[in-house]
Amino acid sequence: MTRQRRAILDELRSSSSHPTAQEVYAGVRKKLPRISLGTVYRNLDTMAERGLIRKLEVGGSQKRFDGETSKHHHVRCTECNRVDDVEMDRDSGLQRFLCDTAGYDVVSYHVEFLGLCPRCREADEQ
Ligand SMILES: [Zn+2]
Ligand SMILES: [Zn+2]
Repeated sequence: MTRQRRAILDELRSSSSHPTAQEVYAGVRKKLPRISLGTVYRNLDTMAERGLIRKLEVGGSQKRFDGETSKHHHVRCTECNRVDDVEMDRDSGLQRFLCDTAGYDVVSYHVEFLGLCPRCREADEQ
């Protein structure tokens, strides 16, 4: 693994905020000041293709990345766009439900919950 890729992976794994490519770039630059945004983009794509990281299928204008590759769901705040992990039972019955109702053999799915994060909820109530 190249030094650049290693630095990008470290950056992603040390963060739970599901950063955008821009944010990853800002973090990696502290270690590798000469790295370019294009290099970060390219590496993120390659690493996602190889399953080293996940490219998130969440709404919002910018792609986000996740150093945690195990199966989990996400919740996105509709106010500030932060994305958090959702710990829930892997087999929530969704897969079986689809198979039973639509006849599909579902191999994968992604779920994005939308809501107000605790901080935005608090701001809302004031
Ligand atoms: Zn929020
Ligand atoms: Zn995640």
